[in-house]
Amino acid sequence: GSGILAGKRGLILGVANNRSIAWGIAQAARNHGASLAFTYQGDALRKRVEPLAASLEAEVVGHCDVTDPASMDAVFETIAQGGGLDFLVHAIAFSDKNELTGRYIETSAENFAKSLMISCYSFTDIARRAEPLMKNGGSMLTLTYYGAEKVMPHYNVMGVAKAALEASVRYLAADLGPSDIRVNALSAGPIKTLAASGIGDFRYILKWNEYNAPMRRTVTIEDVGNAAAYLLSPLSRSVTGEVHHVDSGYHVVGMKAVDAPDI
Ligand code: NAD
Repeated sequence: GSGILAGKRGLILGVANNRSIAWGIAQAARNHGASLAFTYQGDALRKRVEPLAASLEAEVVGHCDVTDPASMDAVFETIAQGGGLDFLVHAIAFSDKNELTGRYIETSAENFAKSLMISCYSFTDIARRAEPLMKNGGSMLTLTYYGAEKVMPHYNVMGVAKAALEASVRYLAADLGPSDIRVNALSAGPIKTLAASGIGDFRYILKWNEYNAPMRRTVTIEDVGNAAAYLLSPLSRSVTGEVHHVDSGYHVVGMKAVDAPDI
């Protein structure tokens, strides 16, 4: 690694398994020299996260469910006792699978509130808790998707949640800029993860991106991890409030190319 994150301490929220985007980011951050702390959501994921954390010599700070303030208090208390924080990664989203298919208009009030709470508000909540721990400035990063900007089939309420998340990145950047804390989002192209498996026709979406992105390929968690290393490090010291696409260029395309393969 380059050592650009040497001496930096980072908190990674959202590792579920070795296919998680958060895991790709953790590997890149470690490779560039960072010391890491992980959380896990519930005991079922604990046994997956612990060996992954151990392989990067990372600390496991405990169970964290963003809808459970007591678990959030405990995690940030542990982090505070271990010294400060230089960066954090929020790679958390949730919606009822039954509403990630069919028409957006059918979204229930209950799932709308839950999806926005877990997928958007949690980043603001975490940012507020982390601010006092970033005494020497810092970098906060969240994950978003193109469905925030344009209508994607089945993405539905999650698109609305990601649009709110992207807006909150800009407001948080304005709030925290004076403290030298930067706030950015990575907009990743589709990747087959646990969360993505809940989205209707996901295989078709992957193929569509592969055939129509300028680079004619989908992206990997390593690709996202490498872009994250830049945004988490001083290499991006004057970049904040940004939504950076790591999607093989898909977001610039207005029409399917004549030479693109049929699906
Ligand atoms: P993943 O299933 O590996 O990770 C999702 C994580 O969210 C899990 O670790 C899960 O424990 C956590 N989570 C859900 N509800 C939570 C709660 N209440 N409290 C704490 N944690 C909770 O899937 P992923 O695709 O790596 O997702 C990470 C992020 O990347 C999400 O924000 C997702 O929307 C975003 N993203 C994914 C893709 C994709 O195609 N996979 C594309 C763009 C953006």
